[in-house]
Amino acid sequence: REEREAFVTLATNDTYALGCLVLGNSLQQASTTRKIVVLVTTGVSNSMRNQLSRVFDLVQEVNLLDSRDSSNLQLLGRPDLSCTFTKLHCWRLTQFDKAVFLDADTLVLRNVDELFDREELSASPDAGWPDCFNSGVFVYKPSEETYQSLLHFALTQGSFDGGDQGMLNIYFRDWATKDISKHLPFIYNVVSQAFYSYLPAFTQFKNDVKIVHFIGATKPWHHTYNTSSGKVIPLPESGHSEEFLQMWWKIFMDLVQPALD
Ligand code: UDP
Ligand code: MN
Repeated sequence: REEREAFVTLATNDTYALGCLVLGNSLQQASTTRKIVVLVTTGVSNSMRNQLSRVFDLVQEVNLLDSRDSSNLQLLGRPDLSCTFTKLHCWRLTQFDKAVFLDADTLVLRNVDELFDREELSASPDAGWPDCFNSGVFVYKPSEETYQSLLHFALTQGSFDGGDQGMLNIYFRDWATKDISKHLPFIYNVVSQAFYSYLPAFTQFKNDVKIVHFIGATKPWHHTYNTSSGKVIPLPESGHSEEFLQMWWKIFMDLVQPALD
């Protein structure tokens, strides 16, 4: 069974691929028994793909605009949806019975293989609007049929926030009310805002966190790292917890950076 379950992430360029490398190493450090997969587009260089293949079991190229696929042609007129569309590709990994999608800006702090006991679509509430799920971490069932249905939906309905989260929350519209077992605890997707929006809870529960999600325009790789002190120097107002950033940078410096040329 474990052979047919996978963690899946995505990079459309070499910068986000750095996030994937840290994430992949964090999954290995947490001793996952599942496969780990990264989806890449043509924006990811060959040398970066080689780096990714050292960490991931599968580096799967996905094509944004494949002229042989008539449904993709419609996307030519909807460039705003290209990123949304790319994430949807994860549903096409039908060699797996179940998968967990993780954004490239997430970091796994401890083993989360129990997520495979959940059903599609399981996700944590979004801190900004908790009746929506955050689409940075979700459990799903790969299916070509679901992919086509999601694609059709994306093309006809679009997305209320311009991204995959707005689209997926309308497609899986009963998530908020129907089945509490599809609500993952917040500790599986702790977004950076939690740090300043509810500091006492953050302080109380931070040791329980299993997955950190560095949402927003500033990503872990944008911060500065002082190599002599071994400490990250957080940019002001990113809202990121220094403690979690330090964990991201430790993996980057110990396991990712030495292999880069
Ligand atoms: N992504 C990517 N290239 C981009 C933007 C996004 O590969 O230029 C992928 C990546 O996996 C990323 C995910 O799409 O983690 C969602 O975007 P992001 O994490 O930046 O959104 P946020 O979580 O900040 O809303
Ligand atoms: Mn993200």
